[in-house]
Amino acid sequence: MTEQNSTGISAETLIRLSAAQLAEKLAAGEVTAVQATQAYLDRIAAVDGQVNAFLHVNAEEALAVAAEVDAIRAAGGAEAESLHVLAGVPIAVKDLIVTIGQPTTAGSKILEGWHSPYDATVVERLRAAKMPILGKTNLDEFAMGSSTEHSAYGPTRNPWDLDRIPGGSGGGSAAAVAAFEAPLALGTDTGGSIRQPGAVTGTVGVKPTYGSVSRYGAIAMASSLDQIGPVTRTVLDSALLHQVIGGHDPRDSTSLPEPLADLVAAAKTGNVEGLRIGIIKELHGEGYQAGVENRFNDALELLKEAGAEIVEVSCPNFQYALGAYYLIMPSEASSNLAKFDGVRYGLRVLPEDGPMTIERVMGATRAAGFGDEVKRRIILGTYALSAGYYDAYYGSAQKVRTLVQRDFDAAFEQADVLISPTAPTTAFPLGEKLDDPLAMYLNDVATIPANLAGVPGLSLPGGLADEDGLPVGIQLLAPAREDARLYRVGAVLESLLEAKWGGPLLAQAPALGAESLETQEAK
Ligand code: GLN
Repeated sequence: MTEQNSTGISAETLIRLSAAQLAEKLAAGEVTAVQATQAYLDRIAAVDGQVNAFLHVNAEEALAVAAEVDAIRAAGGAEAESLHVLAGVPIAVKDLIVTIGQPTTAGSKILEGWHSPYDATVVERLRAAKMPILGKTNLDEFAMGSSTEHSAYGPTRNPWDLDRIPGGSGGGSAAAVAAFEAPLALGTDTGGSIRQPGAVTGTVGVKPTYGSVSRYGAIAMASSLDQIGPVTRTVLDSALLHQVIGGHDPRDSTSLPEPLADLVAAAKTGNVEGLRIGIIKELHGEGYQAGVENRFNDALELLKEAGAEIVEVSCPNFQYALGAYYLIMPSEASSNLAKFDGVRYGLRVLPEDGPMTIERVMGATRAAGFGDEVKRRIILGTYALSAGYYDAYYGSAQKVRTLVQRDFDAAFEQADVLISPTAPTTAFPLGEKLDDPLAMYLNDVATIPANLAGVPGLSLPGGLADEDGLPVGIQLLAPAREDARLYRVGAVLESLLEAKWGGPLLAQAPALGAESLETQEAK
């Protein structure tokens, strides 16, 4: 990919621009949307055989949208003036979010080949902004997992080391952005599926305040926890994308009524002076990899130098958050997944012998269509909700949820923003935790409290761990509806860190391509 396009920007350079930089070049006429979209499609063709970030590539439609943007720009006038700032900037969409014209699988065999008859609200908004949709990205089946190994379509690999996991459930979106296969992507975060993949791939991921981005058209995992959000390479890009997808939607009953704050302006504020940043005592130290802890301490040091006040807060009930999550999430999922019955959607498997009753068709379909992790959670969820156990399990978990919310309330009296590592470790080798569900669940220990309380969280790259040279994520948390604070602090920390590294962290990721494929095979 070394040929130059007509304006002298090589495809190699083009795919490495942030979305904001690409948008500027598009607006200035230095590059066309078709050139940018084609550069990304070429990159996908060159490296996705190794990464497996995409389940579906939407080349024709993406190029058509790009051509439409170019034509509007070329014609000039009012229509060109009113183009959205991200018009012509391509994006990838997690395959849990429904799209007209492309399949939606949720990473499951039960939806193989299924096409949604409607677009998710966020997808409608991408279309309104004229952003070419490059395709649909891989995920753990129904977003259950922390490694993307539970996908029915094979694991996604981490571009930093193809033998390691890209996080999950949104490993496809994070890997696509980290491998320069897309400048932007959408993810969903129920317990950390945007932030933890962000952490282990050196990308930025944001879980917005619950209700601030419409869930209409996101296949429900646990409705009271699910939230769609941005996956990007910079904090500013996340703010730009959040601004496109966020805001009230009458089709989501939990959608917040008020308009979004100016998140892009917040990302450009450029100072943290006098801001109180709270270290959550329970979310670092024991159980966290030394290299993760070191990068976390670096970040604190930089923020202090920039004028922030660092305080320590305690959230004692966070120790029960993981346990509560793994009761609430499966309970809601067991109910949400009841609709995959072999009658209304996707796969239908008929029983091999015996009577052809609806129950038996349902049973055969679900047995064949769902993977082990999904079955495990459906069983857990139905058990927790069953008459004799409801109070002991689901009821107790809901009480813990309230306690976690109270811990946040108290912490936000002492600090404007909270900070922790995003994940306890860097990316682990593929297969390492696949047979140990509890070890897999522990990856989410630092991300889950935000989902239980509905507060927003942002993960940004904090550098590379000393022991393995892999990316470490730093998580920022703010009170509900104060997403703007995350962008303000995140952008400042990002620029301090980049000054320290001499540029974006992803510039240090190993190159992918034909050459690295040979190296991989030689291993
Ligand atoms: N890894 C967590 C789980 O398996 C979170 C998933 C998510 O956020 N979708 O439940």
